[in-house]
Amino acid sequence: MEVRRRSIAAAKPVHSKTIEEEETHAQLPLPLYIINALFFTLFFTVVYYLLSRWREKIRNSTPLHVVTLSEMVAIVAFVASCIYLLGFFGIDFVQSILRPSADVWASEDLEEEDSHVIIKDDSRNLPCGQALDCSHVMTLPQPQPQPQPLPSLIIDHDPNTLTFTTEEDEEMIKSVVDGTTPSYSLESKLGDCRRAAAIRREALQRSTGKSLHGLPLEGFDYGSILGQCCEMPVGYVQIPVGIAGPLLLDGREYSVPMATTEGCLVASANRGCKAIHLSGGATSVLLKDGMTRAPVVRFGSAKRAAELKLFLENPVNFDPLSMVFNKSSRFARLQAIKCAIAGKNLYLRFTCSTGDAMGMNMVSKGVQNVLDFLQAEFPDMDVIGISGNFCSDKKPAAVNWIEGRGKSVVCEAIIKGDVVRKVLKTNVDALVELNMLKNLTGSAMAGALGGFNAHASNIVTAVYIATGQDPAQNVESSHCITMMEAINDGKDLHVSVTMPSIEVGTVGGGTQLASQSACLNLLGVKGANKESPGANSRLLATIVAGSVLAGELSLMSALAAGQLVKSHMKYNRSSKDVTKASS
Ligand code: ADP
Repeated sequence: MEVRRRSIAAAKPVHSKTIEEEETHAQLPLPLYIINALFFTLFFTVVYYLLSRWREKIRNSTPLHVVTLSEMVAIVAFVASCIYLLGFFGIDFVQSILRPSADVWASEDLEEEDSHVIIKDDSRNLPCGQALDCSHVMTLPQPQPQPQPLPSLIIDHDPNTLTFTTEEDEEMIKSVVDGTTPSYSLESKLGDCRRAAAIRREALQRSTGKSLHGLPLEGFDYGSILGQCCEMPVGYVQIPVGIAGPLLLDGREYSVPMATTEGCLVASANRGCKAIHLSGGATSVLLKDGMTRAPVVRFGSAKRAAELKLFLENPVNFDPLSMVFNKSSRFARLQAIKCAIAGKNLYLRFTCSTGDAMGMNMVSKGVQNVLDFLQAEFPDMDVIGISGNFCSDKKPAAVNWIEGRGKSVVCEAIIKGDVVRKVLKTNVDALVELNMLKNLTGSAMAGALGGFNAHASNIVTAVYIATGQDPAQNVESSHCITMMEAINDGKDLHVSVTMPSIEVGTVGGGTQLASQSACLNLLGVKGANKESPGANSRLLATIVAGSVLAGELSLMSALAAGQLVKSHMKYNRSSKDVTKASS
């Protein structure tokens, strides 16, 4: 009974049984089946008692409405147990009769709610800043499990509870628990990624004695991550995606998806978008586009290492080397080799364009080709590692800040004075002063490396997660210097972000997964650009920079209005009419 009830409950639309209700069950002091047994016992006991009392009254000709205290208690117990049992079993029973299939119901309902949301989206007038009005709380549809046929394993539609019905599944779980079957081999052994994930998950729960309640299993295509995105899956983490925008950038509007659990972040970026939009939009320039990989090689002497450096940096050798390198992919085009020497060790930083891919795999393959080729000229070269950290991937490094990695973008906007006052609730002078003291001087005092900004990494990471980028690359992708200057006789604000190492792609990695690909689609940069390979990833990089510009404007304004303006007043420097701004 419990299994039946749970499977229907999980397939139901959100407004019947909710996750909260499931959580409440999880928090009961006693297991569910014991509570059910107690209520059943109570129900039958009081029914028996009341019927026998009724029979006795008829025999003795006692009026039925005359009730004793014990009969009153029995009636209350009867009503309570009825309410519990009807609530627990009755609603599902009625719904199971009325609905042809719980799954069909759920998916129809979802479609309805989805289209509702789309209509709401499309009916926006102008646009930005409205998310700041927190009084409009929208109820969004909860993710629903996708119905998928399972041959032998019956997975409850409650994403946290599995029921294994076949001997085969049970045997497999036991063999994973006792170590006979390696957990990593489940996909290849079973040939069914979802079933493999379900068995691994159950085995994990049994062997650790810890519940994975709350980590959903259902509603994810495990086949899509096999061999490229994640090994040994047991579920997936849900991260909400908010929309900031429209961001008016280079004459086009973009609704920017941001996956985050940080409250106010999307609203803040949205406010920045509004300020940019009302001021005529932002402009971006892509300065460089090249992914890097730097192997480390060792020689018997520093002299030999220097010889290779001179060989690689000699322009005469560039063409033959690039021919070897470019064989790695039709999209890989070697741009430069920059070498750094440390004693007998040489670091070779290869830079190449990679089309619409972020490019790490592509550039690594090209580097391997060149190393194999060089081995003939330099047989004493010892390749220590294909990555020698002079690349430099996922670590703060001056080389990326100075030389760039991935896409180097500068993005600017002129924000009108009245927009600064009305939308950003501050004034130009306060912003310029805060930028100088915080983003420039403060970061210099902190010895920052590429961190001359207020919160570029907030925006970068949220957009990266939503669009399937490698979130670990937020380290160097968030390198950013934010500049602010009063222009037009101090009336307006010129703001810019310069970001030398935005590492993004629209093919490969996590970009092909359903959710991430939907977000790329929203931005109009999904997949490979057929006419001009690389155009999609370059556009995405400019959108990232534009979104950072919006985020910088908004947070800096909040700080200026909240703290700096107050301190202006405190120190009696209110000649700039900061009182208005602080309001
Ligand atoms: P990364 O190098 O970012 O890790 P992958 O190597 O995983 O990316 O993915 C790039 C793959 O996509 C390559 O096999 C490449 O041939 C293919 N591809 C198809 N179209 C494009 C394109 N427009 N730009 C770059 N790669 C493309």
